[in-house]
Order: sequence, then C-alpha cells, then structure tokens
Amino acid sequence: MKNFFLVLFLLPVVADAQNMNEDSLFIHQIAVNILSSDASYNNLHYLTKNIGGRLSGSTNMYKAEQWGEQTLKNAGADNVIMQECMVPHWVRGGQDKAYITYKDANGKPQKYWLNVLALGNSVGSGAKGIEAPLIRVNNFDDLEAKKNELKGKIVFYNVPFDDTLINTFQAYSKNVIYRAIGASRAAKYGAVAMLMRSMTNTPGNYPHTGSLRYADSIKKIPAAAMGLEDVKKLDSLFDKNITVTASLFTYGTMLPDTIAHNVIGELKGSEHPEQIITVGGHLDSWDPAEGANDDGTGIVQTIEVLRVLKALGYQPKHTIQFVLFANEENGTRGAKEYAAMAKKNNEQHIFALESDAGGFTPRGFAFDCNDIVMQKINSWKSFFTPYYGDRFEKGEAGADVGYLMQEFHTPQAGLSPDSQRYFYIHHAATDVFENVDIREMKLGAINMAALIYLVDKYGLQ
Ligand SMILES: [Zn+2]
Repeated sequence: MKNFFLVLFLLPVVADAQNMNEDSLFIHQIAVNILSSDASYNNLHYLTKNIGGRLSGSTNMYKAEQWGEQTLKNAGADNVIMQECMVPHWVRGGQDKAYITYKDANGKPQKYWLNVLALGNSVGSGAKGIEAPLIRVNNFDDLEAKKNELKGKIVFYNVPFDDTLINTFQAYSKNVIYRAIGASRAAKYGAVAMLMRSMTNTPGNYPHTGSLRYADSIKKIPAAAMGLEDVKKLDSLFDKNITVTASLFTYGTMLPDTIAHNVIGELKGSEHPEQIITVGGHLDSWDPAEGANDDGTGIVQTIEVLRVLKALGYQPKHTIQFVLFANEENGTRGAKEYAAMAKKNNEQHIFALESDAGGFTPRGFAFDCNDIVMQKINSWKSFFTPYYGDRFEKGEAGADVGYLMQEFHTPQAGLSPDSQRYFYIHHAATDVFENVDIREMKLGAINMAALIYLVDKYGLQ
C-alpha cells in the first residue's frame, strides 16, 4: 500500500519533470539559434538604414510593408496577408525652427535658437511663423491659474518627468497628457502656439516628437517640443523674471487619409487552426529618426519568433499570426482594423503578445489577464530565468494588442525591457540603429519565442 501511494504521488511529478526538461531544452535551442543567427541584425539594419523613418502615409512606410511581406515569407510564414486599413497622413513639411529674443542684464537684445520638433498632427505656423510673448506654466493647474494671461501668447509647458519612478514608462504615462491635449487646453484661453519640454528624462538637447490630439471645437494652434538644454535656458530667464518673446516656424499638414496595411505572417495550427495566437510590433515610426527601438526592434523580434520556430521544425497546435501593425504612432488604425476584422470574421483570439518598449535587455513581461491565467503563466517563470525574462507583473500589454482585449478579453502580454534608456531615444533623432544593442534585442526575442511556445503547447485554460 505504501508503495502504491508513493507511485501515485510520484507519477505526475515525473511526467512534469520530463516535460520541464523537454521544454527547457527546446527553449535552450531557441536561445542558441537566435544568438548565433545574423538574421535579426540584418533585418534591423535593412529596416533602419535602407528604409529609415516610416510615418504612416510616407513612401518609406510602403517600402517597409513590402520589405515586411518578403521578410515574413523568407522567415517561413505559410502565407502573408496584407490587411488593408485607412491611416492618417500627416507630413512635417519642412525644418521646424524656433528662437527666443530677450534683453540681457545690460539691456542688450539677445537672440537664442531653440532646437525644436513639431508634434505629430500639429498644424503649421504659416511661412511667416508666429511671434508672441512666451509664458511658462508648470502644469494644468498653473495653466488654469494663469488663464487670463494666455491670450495672444505662446504657452511653454515645463512639466518634468518624475525621476523617482523606477519604471520610466510610469513617468511618461503621467506626463503624456500635456503632449496629447496641451495645445488645445492652451488655445481654449487664446494662446497662439504651444512649446513644451520634451517627454524625456535625459539631459542633452534632443527634441522628442509624438502625436497630439486637437479638440474639434477649439482653434488648432501649432505645437512643438524642445530638448532639456533649451528648457534650462528658458528656466534661467523666467527665474529672473526676464520677458521672453518666441518665434515659431512649423509646416505640418494633415492630408486626406490614405491606404496602409497590417502585414500578417501566418503559421497554421495543426490541432486548433481556428484558435489564434498573435505576436507583433508596429512597423510605422516617427520621421526624424530611423525607428530603431520604436519599434524596429519589436518588428525584428516578431519576425525572429517566426524564423526560429520554423528553423527548429516546430509545428504549432494553434495558428500563430506574426503582425507588423500599421499606424501605432498617430492613430492605432492598424490595431483597430485587426481587432475589427477578427470580430467580423468571428475569430477566436486566445493570446496576444506585443513588443513595443524598446530592444533593451528584457526584464520580463507585463500581463493583462485574469488571475487563473496568471497563475498558469506564473508556473512557467523558471523557464525564463536563464534569459533574464522572469519578472512577471500585471500591467498593460501594449497599444496594438489592447483592442483585442476590448473585443475579446484576450489574455495578453507586453515584453518589458529595462526602461532606463528608452526616453533618451523615444521619438527623437537618436532612435537609430547604432543605439540598439543587438544582443539585448535578441534576448528579448528569445523570451518572446519561449512564451509563444509555452502558450501554444499548453494553452491558457
Ligand atoms: Zn512604439
């Protein structure tokens, strides 16, 4: 009797141990393959150097779509779907410029050039530019307090990142509202333009763009961001109560919506082809840089998951879609279309994974799912430890997969790399190939492939 119980007790443990061993070995093979392959380096190099910045509607975005289609085929997709969607088509239209004038302590007029970048979707200033007194505000409360002084002025939002937050995305989330709606809030009180401290915590003088949203009922005014050295200069003047006049020249235009595509590579499932697992990043990027970390690395990692599963001869049970999303940056129209088509076609989306937080060393994943699913995922944690990806937290997965959550409550995850350097490059001219560490990006791809493998093999129910 004693032995009988012992056997009963041990059997599942032995079976689990065998599985664990088999799974660890397979994930190790994934790691070895990715680390010793040139594919991700070559793909990122081509996307950033041969194509470059690829804002929705631009010629580069169409080149990127064609590249994506071919690269997914080369990586082993059973088929590639070009899913059409309409996207906004904003063009910068020229070199954004701004300067300030003021009188120094001796009463001598001074002129100082600011390094600015118009925010995405911003209207232009007109060829003559806009010249007006500059007024500094520290936050929306300050704006409200000064609302009677704003008419005819250029508002300068000076809202620094909260540097005490360890995860810099939290600091970004707290402040992004100023970029998104700051122009309309200022225009409501008669401001003629908006300048802002860039969404960054990094010294230096790179301006960071990113999209704004105008309120329909309020006059659209030009808006631009500046780097932190220029912010320091302005602070030094305002702190001495010196009167500052700013001149701003921007050339942005919103053209009619245009056609773009989500580029979707598919591996058909052998057991549950009707059940879909999604992995993706976004193919579009802001124009002043190469879109390397945002989100070239997410695109390359997505393709790498496909390539390595094919290279290792893995036959998925579920259908896996590798999605290069259109238009995350100024509309998320690609993501909306993907979720809308899934709903229309009555598809079953069982899991979605996104990489859009940079190609830096992975720390883990943010999971948006219920507690039962989370418990199952947590049981896999040790598989990720050798690859630095075992910090599993609850959180938002990402903008592109978020619409699947809205439609289907699909459990989802976002790769969480170390965030300390992300806002050095985010939406700035510094987001170039040279600022990606290929090994760190590969580690992210290994963790992503491991997660997709485990979800496919064991499901989430
Ligand atoms: Zn992004």
